[in-house]
Amino acid sequence: MSEDRRVLYVIAHPDDEEKFSGTAALQARAGIEVTIAVALNAVALNGNRGGLMGATPEERAETRYREMQQSCQILGVKLEWLGYGDDDFLERFHNDYAEVERTFRNLVRRVDPHLLVVAPPNDYHRHHLIVAEVAMDASMNASNPNHESEYPASSMIPYTLYYRPQMGIGFVPSLYVDIGDTYHLKIEAMKAHQSQHQYLKDHHRIDIFQTVETIARYYGNACGVEFAEPFALCQKFNRPAPIQQLARFFPI
Ligand SMILES: [Zn+2]
Repeated sequence: MSEDRRVLYVIAHPDDEEKFSGTAALQARAGIEVTIAVALNAVALNGNRGGLMGATPEERAETRYREMQQSCQILGVKLEWLGYGDDDFLERFHNDYAEVERTFRNLVRRVDPHLLVVAPPNDYHRHHLIVAEVAMDASMNASNPNHESEYPASSMIPYTLYYRPQMGIGFVPSLYVDIGDTYHLKIEAMKAHQSQHQYLKDHHRIDIFQTVETIARYYGNACGVEFAEPFALCQKFNRPAPIQQLARFFPI
């Protein structure tokens, strides 16, 4: 592996980055190239609340995109926006898997990550699970030049970690990152998703800022610091990293 260090986080919806945003900001500060790829524009799910009442799907997508862009700017990371619609994505996954995998393969080839971070297999949301599954498949194929696409093959099958599921339910972390230095950026990034704050109260029964703080303090307590984010090692073939490689991405 070269001295380059590139991390690719793949999420389904704008605002899912909350699960690792403190870590992503720390990595970016350390000179690591961090990209967050958002698969869906969340048009069908949201927009009827949280200040987007009466907006068209295009306006909702535009708002979610702008909020995500702002969040990435705050965290100091790059954004890749795949732009699938919420309903559209499941339909295309089931009816044209080859097209969806190719889109993700091109994403992996553009970013050429050494470390991939996706949702864990016990996540609660189908979009999160499917996006993780396609990202894993595509990142396997991307480094094989025989799978042709618009981009040259990537350099390796990336080492892979799982970020936590919502509320950490059913999740056993393998490592914790002290995010004390970037906790304020995590909060600022969540503020960028303004259209979601009321929606999350009404629909998911949570005050997102209370939730973010509670979870960060909970994992912080687990490892003896104020705020932390947990990750788990992906134990599938080709995915675990030797500790020396993994340490390069957590130079804290
Ligand atoms: Zn989500």
